[in-house]
Amino acid sequence: MKNIKKISRKYIRCGLAICLAVLIFFATFLVSCNTQKKYLNDGITIVSSFYPIHLFTEVVTHNVDGIKLVDLTPPSIGCIHDYSLLPADIIQLNSTSLFIVNGGGMESFIDKAIKELPDLRIITASRGIDFLTSNGRLNPHVWMSPDFAAKEVQNIANSLSEFDPIHASIYQKNSEQFLVKIDLLKASISEKLKSVTNRNIITFHAAFDYFAHDFSLNIVSLIENDPDNSPSPSMISEIIDLGKKNNVSALFTEAQYPSDIAAIIANEIGAKTFELDPIVSPKLSSVYVDIPQDEYFMRMEKNADILKNALGG
Ligand SMILES: [Zn+2]
Repeated sequence: MKNIKKISRKYIRCGLAICLAVLIFFATFLVSCNTQKKYLNDGITIVSSFYPIHLFTEVVTHNVDGIKLVDLTPPSIGCIHDYSLLPADIIQLNSTSLFIVNGGGMESFIDKAIKELPDLRIITASRGIDFLTSNGRLNPHVWMSPDFAAKEVQNIANSLSEFDPIHASIYQKNSEQFLVKIDLLKASISEKLKSVTNRNIITFHAAFDYFAHDFSLNIVSLIENDPDNSPSPSMISEIIDLGKKNNVSALFTEAQYPSDIAAIIANEIGAKTFELDPIVSPKLSSVYVDIPQDEYFMRMEKNADILKNALGG
């Protein structure tokens, strides 16, 4: 009798454990269903690789409800030439609807992302653009050409229209408005720079090659071929020689990178240093921060003003 009681208690315990396990399983199932539902109700999550792509996506998705736009990289990082994916990035990309990148080699981590997340939907903003080359590699800084900025905005608008056809007309309208302003911007910059006579300049890294190409400025040398490695002493003396030979009067630094080497070179050449904006991070303080539609234009106009002021004419 005692033994029977023992056995039945054992079965009861066992039964309770099974019931508990089943309950936990269903509770987990319900929570995961709810999360899935919440995710779908929350709209589209878009991850942009870095700031210019974030800005253009903000322009295209203006006035569209249900878009959650986040940057993969911290805004202070500037260009992301040497960025490596962190485990947290993979987790973030895994829960995104779309990943929008610049392309042209800016996101050197892209192969790793594709390998880790083969189902990730990637939009390449620069597709169809004829890249310039710099030191034998594609120059990815296409957004500094107004025409190519327009192309990137158009590409993002077209891809989003395919992915989210309900809002296609808003994406296309935002893109068309940007394109109209691009023509005005080009005319304005050309007008500002038309009287500049000495168009030979030195820039920090290859971020301004497209701008120089579009507006007939001649970059005789870069200070850093690779923005994350300082030039060697022999490279510095080569830059000084090129600057002197080409009568360079202005060197252009960028806020994201140190300017001490530029100051040394400028001093040797007898030139001055100025700061240009490669639009790779948000403005630190701006009253226009809530107007993504105009930020690109204002910052490009400011670059033209700085160049005109620096080069005279
Ligand atoms: Zn760069």
